[in-house]
Amino acid sequence: MPRHFDPTLVNDRFDDPGLYVDLAFERRALLFDIGDIAGLPTRKILRISDVFVSHRHMDHFAGFDQLLRRVLGREKVIGIYGPAGSIEAIGHKLKAYTWNLLDGYDGNVSFRVTEMDAVGNMTSALFSGRESFSRQHAERRAEADGLLLKEPGIQVRATTLDHGVPVLAFALEERAQINVWRNKLEAAGLAVGPWLRDFKEAVLHGRADAFPIEVSWQAPDADTPKTLPLGQLRNEIMRVSTGRKIAYVVDCAFTRANVEKIVALAKDADTLFIEATFFEADAAIAAQRRHLTAHQAGTIARLAGVKRLVTFHYSPRYRGEGERLAEEAQLAFLGR
Ligand SMILES: [Zn+2]
Repeated sequence: MPRHFDPTLVNDRFDDPGLYVDLAFERRALLFDIGDIAGLPTRKILRISDVFVSHRHMDHFAGFDQLLRRVLGREKVIGIYGPAGSIEAIGHKLKAYTWNLLDGYDGNVSFRVTEMDAVGNMTSALFSGRESFSRQHAERRAEADGLLLKEPGIQVRATTLDHGVPVLAFALEERAQINVWRNKLEAAGLAVGPWLRDFKEAVLHGRADAFPIEVSWQAPDADTPKTLPLGQLRNEIMRVSTGRKIAYVVDCAFTRANVEKIVALAKDADTLFIEATFFEADAAIAAQRRHLTAHQAGTIARLAGVKRLVTFHYSPRYRGEGERLAEEAQLAFLGR
């Protein structure tokens, strides 16, 4: 059961930007930007647990209604994260509909909205279907670390870029990747099973070596213990590798401040997903619209030392020339 990010762009590179990251291990998915998501099948939409919104230009946010339509009546809490004003914006979206029949549903969806302002202060509020999506208990956290999501297995960090309006860029990181040696497991007489999940959780939570893990044996008898200490299992059947990292960057001007922030955020990422809206030949228009050119995107990727570069959010004016845009970015990435 390896933990894997499986990131895929939601749309064609000329259409609304969005990155769907399946977390197979946890049977859920993260979504970065929520423009048009009609291309996502319902089963994929239903896996979404958290949505990260860079900013609220329509091509990055209009799909919230499509999500809402699919999850209505489901018992789940979905996290929404965005720049300042996100709580009010989601509140308005939810207020636009009539909710007198929510009582009749088996389950109710709730949205926990967290907004981060330009200095990193975070405010959260809950909109519960049970309460007709009225806004409940806002809480404020003053943490300048930019960590929007912090779980034992993964974390998502954000930084604020300038696009004329504040735009969030995101980095998703696995905190550690735990692999079980299957051959060593079997050689020890242990059986593969759901207990491995508890074992990994215990490791990720940093439990003590003596922490007992309930195990399954291939051939249990009177002598096989029901539990083994975490430390012993960790030494015998487990290997930890450094976690993977991906970064998602859209809609920002090629300014010194933006470049420095992106480079810090995306440092050494396995994959950088970054907008490449214009050709370098149209750099003047890019600067005016506060977008990146393909060449600039590739330059940033090189400065950040990422392993792989994926460009998207191409201007529709270049339809049919997507490969050339990608190539311009790759050449800058390789320093040519
Ligand atoms: Zn955009």
